[in-house]
Amino acid sequence: MPTEGPRALYIAGSTGSIGTQALDVVRASPGHFDVVALSAARSVTVLAEQAREFGPRFVAVADPAKAAELSALVPAGTKVLAGDGALADLATEAGADVVLNAVVGFAGLRVTLATLEAGKRLALANKESLVAGGPVVQRAWATPGAELLPVDSEHSALHQCLAGTGLAGTAPPVQQADPVQGTDGQDAGREQDPRRRSLRRLVLTASGGPFRGRSRDQLQAVTVADALAHPTWSMGPKITVDSSTLMNKGLEVIEAHLLFGVPYSQIDVVVHPQSVVHSMVEMTDGATIAQLSLPDMRLPIGYALTYPERMAVAFGALDWGALGRLEFELPDTEAFGCLALAYEAGRRGGTAPACLNGANEVAVAGFLSGRLAWADIPVVVARTMERFVEADPRDLDDVLAADAEGRALAGEVLAQLASGPTEGRRVG
Ligand code: MG
Repeated sequence: MPTEGPRALYIAGSTGSIGTQALDVVRASPGHFDVVALSAARSVTVLAEQAREFGPRFVAVADPAKAAELSALVPAGTKVLAGDGALADLATEAGADVVLNAVVGFAGLRVTLATLEAGKRLALANKESLVAGGPVVQRAWATPGAELLPVDSEHSALHQCLAGTGLAGTAPPVQQADPVQGTDGQDAGREQDPRRRSLRRLVLTASGGPFRGRSRDQLQAVTVADALAHPTWSMGPKITVDSSTLMNKGLEVIEAHLLFGVPYSQIDVVVHPQSVVHSMVEMTDGATIAQLSLPDMRLPIGYALTYPERMAVAFGALDWGALGRLEFELPDTEAFGCLALAYEAGRRGGTAPACLNGANEVAVAGFLSGRLAWADIPVVVARTMERFVEADPRDLDDVLAADAEGRALAGEVLAQLASGPTEGRRVG
């Protein structure tokens, strides 16, 4: 990372919710960023507008059928790439210092790997690539010069809390598994990073989504519109549905494990409807360090782009006079089965989280298209995970295979469910 002058920035997925907010951060920080590349899955009209405003040298669209349209819309001299690998190619070709991966879903994995393997800073909004890629992403992160800064608000909060206690940086952590209990009930000697001895647990906050407080029975008939009406965060449809099922929080538990090397037994979730406390770190002496700000993604985006510096402008500064109450409660794991499914997949490790993520993407797409009931999303994921046998992934192909198998199994389960009655189904 350069310490002087503007940082050359590539935003992969610049037309989505995170991408457009990242461009707000750029607008608010004159002289700090040089936008060298922008890309999108298929929204070429918006992408071309952004190219006219920010003047990147490169633009890319994943859908090759949109290439000609994009070329006609961008300023003369802008280099246009198109096709499946184009977004990842720009991570190495565009000359960026920082790549913000704001691609939606598993499709972001190639951008994650290309950025880390090129030894650049990755500002990661695409949690699916880390969760699914697991050990493969960890190995890429070990490339000299590679840095990973989370953009997910909870993980940005955890990073800020851990950095504040000297326990976080930008390099991969020593991964710690859950303690193995010996016959005497003691931890059977797993090596622990001595700096981490004072850390008791990470506490991820969850807004609880639009269905907080509803029982399993009350959740049988929820609609797509209900699920997309998030109370505190404005996000894209996929993550908003994940937020309503708590799968988003489940993926974030796995993400926290991979980012910070903390075992699953030391990662907890607490529901906090106001989304002001973005997550917390509890130390062994009981001290809890939290990061607070209004729910505005531009703060974690700016943090990941500028770390260890801070943006000079505030998005989400608190007005203590107007804040009122902050509430906390434990999650209802009975009504929201996805959270436990994610812990289980995380503990299974290897390719299990890739399968979980693939199955979830199929289930969410099924729900959004009206083929699957909301309450059946965890059923699809659970039945898929029961049939899946995980392995240790060696490379991208192994992750792609696990994802494909998860999607295929989930597609079969979904087809069975979509044609059957909806009464009395249980998870697992
Ligand atoms: Mg989050």
